[in-house]
Amino acid sequence: MPMTPDYTHRLTPMIEKIAHHYGTPFHIYDEAGIRGTCRQLTSLFSELDGFCEYFAVKALPNPEILKIFKEEGFGFDCSSPAELHLARMAGGRGEDLMFTSNNTCKEEFEAAAADGGVILNLDDISLIDKVPEMPELICFRYNPGDRRTGNEIIGNPLEAKYGVSHDQLVDAYRTAMERGATRFGLHTMLASNELNYTYMVETAAMLLSRIKALRKELGITFEFVNIGGGLGIPYRPEEGPLNITAMAAEITALFQAFKKEEGYMPRLCMESGRFMAGPHGVLATSVINRKETYRHYVGVDACMSALMRPGMYGAYHHITIPGKEALPLDTVVDVVGSLCENNDKFAVQRPLPPLEEGDLLLIHDTGAHGHAMGFNYNGQMRPKELLLESKGTVRMIRREETFTDYTATLDFDDTGFDPKL
Ligand SMILES: *Cc1c(COP(=O)(O)O)cnc(C)c1O
Repeated sequence: MPMTPDYTHRLTPMIEKIAHHYGTPFHIYDEAGIRGTCRQLTSLFSELDGFCEYFAVKALPNPEILKIFKEEGFGFDCSSPAELHLARMAGGRGEDLMFTSNNTCKEEFEAAAADGGVILNLDDISLIDKVPEMPELICFRYNPGDRRTGNEIIGNPLEAKYGVSHDQLVDAYRTAMERGATRFGLHTMLASNELNYTYMVETAAMLLSRIKALRKELGITFEFVNIGGGLGIPYRPEEGPLNITAMAAEITALFQAFKKEEGYMPRLCMESGRFMAGPHGVLATSVINRKETYRHYVGVDACMSALMRPGMYGAYHHITIPGKEALPLDTVVDVVGSLCENNDKFAVQRPLPPLEEGDLLLIHDTGAHGHAMGFNYNGQMRPKELLLESKGTVRMIRREETFTDYTATLDFDDTGFDPKL
């Protein structure tokens, strides 16, 4: 089921007023829902010796949202200097920050080391010699190759650009030790939007077995294993949620068995974006045109600049119309934006109730990889972001873009350069 019943109950009675006050389109996020998911996760993994979720900043990179995660005790997973900067703006420091970059450059290592540092998660063995200074605590991203297939969405690990290969893993840690590392973590990320929780349990088991083998080879123990993100959410009404309770119980059992055998328990880390934020956002947009040609089109005031997933991946986002919930879904329409790209459609051949100009559409599950993926192609601006606060008030947490933002990169000094001189 998309958008949670709780959020529906909170938002529906006031959405028309909010839309009238702020103007559409906008994404609106649910503070109470985000905090609820944080607390659920923390409580489900409370039997472990130190669980930590590093919210994947790329999913919803708004400092006001990041502050909520910080208050709930979470860290941040970043992969660029800008994301590190945002995480630090939200109060993240040092080991609150996991830096999982790939194809990393010198400036990125410098940004990572600045301002109290990060947990460095290296994507390749060749990067060991490029880290300006080997930190005490080091992590490697592991790519198991054909040892585990992961889910289909992220593809075959043998073709994935990420991570240290199976055969390089021992050398990676040995070399890091020679360069002065004394504390260790192991990371992998093999799934995306996966609703079958057993993949995550398998991933945890695989990492625990790897750190057992690494201890045999190198005599080192691990402070943490990080099973990555990729927990799925049900975008379609007929889909059930990921069974996070069973996942937590089975992973907890694995860690407890590991502790019996090995005499210690590493921390479990995760870095979910979608699961934490996805269901807690909706895109509110108004019908501005209707058109009947070979198909019936409903034109809205948002476009792909606000939400790329349907156009880019053919992803399904559920749509409801407040006030028309009880009407029959008897009109099959394409819901479209105004970009000159025929994939600028929020829904294709979707049965919806009869719509009129001025109707407000709620496009569900835009809390993760929604606004963040937006772009400015065709001079389309990204919409504003609002937060429905736990106390029932609404606050703007990002304004919509303007032409001045669009042309900001034209404002620079250059006197020209003659390469012939
Ligand atoms: C994108 C990403 C995540 C978050 O993925 P979700 O599917 O949003 O959970 C976590 N870790 C890494 C390294 C990523 O690239």
